[in-house]
Amino acid sequence: MPNPLRMFMKEQAVILVGKRLWRQIDLGVLDSPRAIWSFALAVSFWSVIISSLVGLGSLPLLYGLGIVSVPVSEMITVMVAFSWLFGGALTGAFALVAGHVIRDLVQARQQFERLSRTDTLSGLANRRAFNDVLADVVQDASLAIIDIDRFKLINDRFGHQAGDRIIQAISGLLKEVFGDDHLVARLGGEEFGVVLRGGTVAQRLALVEQARQRVAAEVIVFDEVLLGVTVSAGVAEFRAGKRPEIVYAWADKALYLAKDAGRDRVFHEDSLAVIEPVHSDHAPDDAWLFAAIGRRG
Ligand code: GH3
Ligand code: MG
Ligand code: MG
Repeated sequence: MPNPLRMFMKEQAVILVGKRLWRQIDLGVLDSPRAIWSFALAVSFWSVIISSLVGLGSLPLLYGLGIVSVPVSEMITVMVAFSWLFGGALTGAFALVAGHVIRDLVQARQQFERLSRTDTLSGLANRRAFNDVLADVVQDASLAIIDIDRFKLINDRFGHQAGDRIIQAISGLLKEVFGDDHLVARLGGEEFGVVLRGGTVAQRLALVEQARQRVAAEVIVFDEVLLGVTVSAGVAEFRAGKRPEIVYAWADKALYLAKDAGRDRVFHEDSLAVIEPVHSDHAPDDAWLFAAIGRRG
């Protein structure tokens, strides 16, 4: 059976070396009653040790100035007893309260962090969370921008609530198809961004196509009305030396062309390149776009 005193002392040694007390607060490790108690105990322990040392250190001065006249041994006994009994108990009690307050604050901060990165309607990551991920991706990844087709018609014919219901249903479907390995975010309105990581370009593209098919096959019930929608997607590749905003610009252009070609389809940037190499680190320009559209038309 482990010796609790030995364990406690071992923990204190770790605190002394690794400044764990502060890290405990910082990382919000105070997440259980036991952790808060051990935090309070550690604070009280250290306050007693430090106050005893300061008290003992100040004895020569007190005696030197003639402030204290009782024998040293009595003085030390009183000092240490007071540090342990009152100092230790009081700081321990305060630290216990502080531990609870810190835990609540940390939980509130975590909740705030989570909410500030989550889209309220869909429950997906929001644009802020998406932009953070986008900035960190280097290569072996694709960006898909997926947009619901003729969504305005749904709002106009069945009302905004029906539109909201469709956004929620499509969000659920996308989350299902892409799973936790890839980031699915709602960028705003009826537009979604997916960062697909790992596998080959063909595999990632196939997954986006699978998502398109799933949406097209889905029937969404709202107010006893059966609704169906389709989505279009533009896909671009993260490549070394290609900035995230350029990847985004190419995915956006591919989406634009998918819409222009009739909607309910997935376009990849590589299949669009006619005039300029798409791997270069600059955005597609209007002249290129015009030529690409003309070629398709
Ligand atoms: P396209 O196929 O070219 O994408 O056509 P669209 O009608 O889907 O695109 P458009 O940009 O013309 O319309 C998007 C509409 O989405 C307009 C806006 O009122 C609606 N919208 C944006 N955000 C929301 C939302 O949160 N809920 C609902 N219900 N509608 C929204
Ligand atoms: Mg749309
Ligand atoms: Mg849109």
